[in-house]
Amino acid sequence: MRTCPLCPALTLLALVAVPATLLIAAAPVAPQDGGAKKEWGVHDKERPQPAMVTPGGHGTAPSDAVSLFDGKSLDAWTGGAWEVKSDANGPYFQVKPGSGNIRTKEGFGSCQLHIEWMVPESCNCNGQQGCNSGLFFMNRYELQILGSNPNKTYVDGMAGAMYGQHPPLVNPCNPNGQWNTYDVVFHAPKFKADGSLEKAGSMTVFFNGVLVQDNSPILGATAHAAKASYSAHEPKLPIGLQDHGDALCFRNVWLRPLAD
Ligand code: MG
Repeated sequence: MRTCPLCPALTLLALVAVPATLLIAAAPVAPQDGGAKKEWGVHDKERPQPAMVTPGGHGTAPSDAVSLFDGKSLDAWTGGAWEVKSDANGPYFQVKPGSGNIRTKEGFGSCQLHIEWMVPESCNCNGQQGCNSGLFFMNRYELQILGSNPNKTYVDGMAGAMYGQHPPLVNPCNPNGQWNTYDVVFHAPKFKADGSLEKAGSMTVFFNGVLVQDNSPILGATAHAAKASYSAHEPKLPIGLQDHGDALCFRNVWLRPLAD
């Protein structure tokens, strides 16, 4: 039998070097602060402090948020003739069925978005009919808004679903007549110069405080009864709300743009 005089040494070297390489590869990259490229040491006292933000209370936005509804007007929006109203609980706005979708005048990319929505008790839900709206990021990626307590429909079209793509993990929807909240972390997709997809977008969604989408990948622009696909678009586009023919109500809409 032939022997290899260097083999024990080489084996030892491999046993030491390979895990060391893996350790280096797995070492976390320090998060960036304010776009700085510097890598920070553990407990580095020179690391910049995060900006102070006054958190929102009930019905109010945090201090650094972009408000999309000031309680008085829909000046931040364009499109259908939706109406601003008020009741004992404060101001809200309502779909004017048949007048068309609305969208923000300003464009946004990745963001944290908060919205409250309510299906009036007068609405009769029947699957996709009677209590349907939708929140569209970049005017094309829909987080479904639908009365879903009770209301049986296909699960990738119920409240908390990324329409036609991902059902919600659970159904925490309030009954009609009660307000619901969505808190969403939306990451916009990225496209290469040739228009092909570089990185898919994603949504993480808390519905009435309950996780229903856990960093779910966006498969493409929302389509009805068809597979979604991507086509390249601008990095910032309007937020849209859907007029599906039903008089849903909204309030306390704000977002915080996120750096990618
Ligand atoms: Mg919808």
